[in-house]
Amino acid sequence: MASVSSKPFNPFAMAQAQFDRVAEMINLDHPTRELLRQPLREFHFALPIRMDDGSFKVFRGFRVQHNDARGPHKGGIRFHPQETIDTVRALGMWMTWKCAVVNIPLGGGKGGVVCDPHNLSMREQEALCRAYVRQIARAVGPLQDVPAPDVMTNAQHMLWMLDEFERIHGAKYPGFITGKPVGMGGSVGRTEATGYGVVFTIREALKELNLRAKDTLASVQGFGNVAQYAIELYQQIGGTVVCVSCWDQEDQTSHAFYKADGIDLAALRGICDRFGGIDKKKAVSLGYKILPGDAWIEQEVDILIPAALENSITGDNAGKISRRVKLLAEGANGPTTPDADHILQERGIFVIPDFLANAGGVTCSYLEQVQSNINYYWEKDEVLGKLDVKMTSAFIDVSELAKKNKLFMRDAAYIIAISRVAQACRDRGWV
Ligand code: NAD
Repeated sequence: MASVSSKPFNPFAMAQAQFDRVAEMINLDHPTRELLRQPLREFHFALPIRMDDGSFKVFRGFRVQHNDARGPHKGGIRFHPQETIDTVRALGMWMTWKCAVVNIPLGGGKGGVVCDPHNLSMREQEALCRAYVRQIARAVGPLQDVPAPDVMTNAQHMLWMLDEFERIHGAKYPGFITGKPVGMGGSVGRTEATGYGVVFTIREALKELNLRAKDTLASVQGFGNVAQYAIELYQQIGGTVVCVSCWDQEDQTSHAFYKADGIDLAALRGICDRFGGIDKKKAVSLGYKILPGDAWIEQEVDILIPAALENSITGDNAGKISRRVKLLAEGANGPTTPDADHILQERGIFVIPDFLANAGGVTCSYLEQVQSNINYYWEKDEVLGKLDVKMTSAFIDVSELAKKNKLFMRDAAYIIAISRVAQACRDRGWV
C-alpha cells in the first residue's frame, strides 16, 4: 500500500476518525468496522505521457473503490498537483456515505491524477484521460464503478474517458461515466446539480432556523462549479453573497473578493478563468475590495459556504468565525477538521455536513446513469425536480434524527449512512 499524505493534516485519518466515532456511538460490530474503515480495493498506476515538446513525463494515478454493498462504486476523478492517495481514500469513503445518506443504489469510490492541468495543453490532457482509462478499464464499468468529473476535470475529460473505454470494450457504454456533455449522454442539470443541491439543503435548514433567505448574507470559499451554482440559486431565493474567495494561479495564493451590497455573479463569471480563478485587476475595476484568501471565514454573515477544497476550517481559524454565523453548508468535501467541528458544535452553529450538502452532484449523476441506461433523456425541470425531492428528503431524515436524539447534524448523517451500508454488508453475508 501506498504513501501517506504529505499534507500536515491527513484527510484519510480524518475520515477514519469520523467513522470510528460514529461506529462507537452505534456500537457497530468489529468485523463491519474493519471492513468499512478502509477501501475494498485500490489501484495505483503510472501514466507515461508524450508531451507536446516530444519528451515523456510519467504521472501518478489512483482509483480507490471503498465499498459497493449498495451498488456500483461511484465517484469523481480529480486532477490536482497536490493529490495524494490518502485524499483519494478519504473521498472514496465519503462517497460511500454520500450515496447512502441520499439513499441511491450506489457505493463509493474516487480517482485522482497528480498533475496540474493549468500547465497541460488540451492534447496532453486528452492523452492523460485515455491513459487513465487504459489502466483501469477492466475494473470499472456501468455495473462495477462509474467515474465522474471533480476538481479540475470536466465534461470534455469524461467524454475522452468514455471514448477510450468504448474503444477497449468494442461497444457503447454511456452508463460507464457521468458528467458527460449534454447531447453526448450527459444529463441536463448536472452542471448545476451540486451547487443547487447545497442550496436545497440551505433552504431547508433556514426553515429550521426560522430565517428567511432574503434576510441573510453569505460568504463563500471557492468560485468553481459548486460555488458558482450555489451562489446562483441562493441569490434566486433572495440571499446576498458579500464575499467569495479563490485561488490565484499567478500569485500562488488565495484572495477574497468583497462587496458590501452583494457580488454580481454574472460580472464575476465574466472575469474568471475555467478553473474558477477571478482576475484581480478586473475585479478591482468593478469595485471589489481584495482581501487575503482567509478573509472569507471572518465575514459578518449568517451563512458560510466552503466550496473549494478540504481542510479549510481548522482549529486555527474556526475561532475567527463571526458571532453572526448561524449556518455552515459544506459544499466542498472535508472542509472542516474534527477540532474545528468541536468549536462549531460549542458555538451552536448548524452544520450541513459535506456528504449531505454536496450530494446533489452524485444524485444527478445517478439520474444521468438511469437516463443513459434507458437511452431516454428528461427535461431540465424534471431532473432538477427529482434532485430537489431526493435532497430534501435526505435533509429531513437527517435533521429529524438529529432533533430526536439531540445529535450534531454530522453525527446524525453518519449514523444513517453507516447503518445503511453496514446493513447491506450484513444482508449480503459479507460480515
Ligand atoms: P472547481 O475546480 O470547479 O473549483 C474549485 C474552486 O476553489 C476554484 O474557484 C479555485 O480557485 C478555488 N480554490 C482552490 N484552492 C483554494 C484556496 N486555497 N482558497 C480559496 N479558493 C480556492 O471545483 P468544484 O467542482 O467546484 O469542487 C469544489 C469542492 O466541491 C471540492 O472539494 C470537490 O471535491 C467538491 N465537490 C464537487 C462536486 C462537483 O460536482 N463538482 C461534487 C461534490 C463535491
